[in-house]
Amino acid sequence: NMASPALLMRVVASAYSVAEKAATIVRNVMAAGDLGIVEKTGANDLQTKADRLVQMSICASLARKFPKVTIIGEEELPSGEVTEDLIEDGHCEEILKKTCPAEYTGIKEEELVIWVDPLDGTKEYTEGLLDHVTVLIGIAYGGKAIAGVINQPYYNYEAGAGAVLGRTIWGVLGMGAFGFQLTEAPAGKHIIVTTRSHSNAVVNDCISALNPDSVIRVGGAGNKIIQLIEGKASAYVFASPGCKKWDTCAPEAILHAVGGKITDIHGNGFQYNKDVKHMNSAGVLAALRNYDYYASRIPNTVKQSLVP
Ligand code: AMP
Ligand code: MG
Ligand code: MG
Repeated sequence: NMASPALLMRVVASAYSVAEKAATIVRNVMAAGDLGIVEKTGANDLQTKADRLVQMSICASLARKFPKVTIIGEEELPSGEVTEDLIEDGHCEEILKKTCPAEYTGIKEEELVIWVDPLDGTKEYTEGLLDHVTVLIGIAYGGKAIAGVINQPYYNYEAGAGAVLGRTIWGVLGMGAFGFQLTEAPAGKHIIVTTRSHSNAVVNDCISALNPDSVIRVGGAGNKIIQLIEGKASAYVFASPGCKKWDTCAPEAILHAVGGKITDIHGNGFQYNKDVKHMNSAGVLAALRNYDYYASRIPNTVKQSLVP
């Protein structure tokens, strides 16, 4: 339909620009130097000024354009007016020009749920591991993650002053994913990517059972999915509760859009209805290829310790 793009494409096109604004806020807060760190449940569960400002920016910007969409953000913030300087009203023209998959053309605003992780990898952000950080905007319909935007504000930051800093990856189920080069992991090798700051005995036992050739420990769920789609790792394994729906929604949509698979450690898919429990209590298992190999090697002892 030339006259009016489908709602889903308008939401994704807006989320793209909103995520770029978010990245600017993330960089500006770091550059200003006062992170305003608050401990949530403990020292490994942090919130910074960037988490707060970005969530306000994303949620207020999308709510203004799409008032009937349900938007769920990670951070608990006092309600109130958001200042105009935090509002982004732009959209990505290139996304609007793409054809919406037929099964999504009839979606109405009140049927969408947007899961927002304003800053994924906060612990790493506070420690200067800046390329671990992502901004995640996941879009769900009928309980399924169908579209997502991942912005990596510090992509290229180690390349030096001449390099363009930051990038935005986006995808829609049935359409594909864009903004990166899809790359296969080395054939015949089991390279496992997992948490850096939330390890425990079960997390490590589970990885050992997969006969890894190497283990990459990095922060962020968004960052780990990027490792999978760029061929740096063959599986993302996290046999622990702790990861939430806002961590997995956008990554799931992008991974599924390019033919990968993400589930909990039992092989159950995640649900993203607005009333769903936030915690992914039974962990995360994801791969671009050979998901079944990894799923078949999760020990029963690990499964028994993780109740969905
Ligand atoms: P990680 O791989 O440790 O960076 O975790 C991915 C996402 O899940 C991040 O948003 C973390 O904050 C969150 N997460 C994982 N485990 C925990 C935990 N034990 N407590 C709080 N958040 C967690
Ligand atoms: Mg997160
Ligand atoms: Mg976060």
